[in-house]
Amino acid sequence: MQVPRHWREIPKRYRLEAAKCSQCGYIAFPQRLICPECGAAEFEKINLSGKGKLETYTIIRVAPEGFGDQVPYAIGMIELEEGVRLMGQITDCDPETLKIGDHLIAKFRRMREEGESGVIMYGYKFVPDVGV
Ligand code: ZN
Repeated sequence: MQVPRHWREIPKRYRLEAAKCSQCGYIAFPQRLICPECGAAEFEKINLSGKGKLETYTIIRVAPEGFGDQVPYAIGMIELEEGVRLMGQITDCDPETLKIGDHLIAKFRRMREEGESGVIMYGYKFVPDVGV
């Protein structure tokens, strides 16, 4: 029963809501109750830009169940402008042409279908940031 939990988390994931520590400025994503840097419990809500640079990536050629129609695809670690690192699938490009340092931007996309129930899961994926 993962579906209700997933739906509950969609707004935060979609808007890339993060929490910025009021004391030291640390940005927590996902949001946390206690700042891991200074221990403060006061945060200001911010929305991440979703823009970042590709730090490292790997190309998936044998897909886990539910991703079979998408191989090959790349999974990368992206460092956002705000300094937050996100792991995500990179789409809308030929994975073979990716380079470390590429500019990417997070977009809300279909992730996969949930087994036989056919429920479609959504989340963010990264696409090349062509400045549009
Ligand atoms: Zn802090």
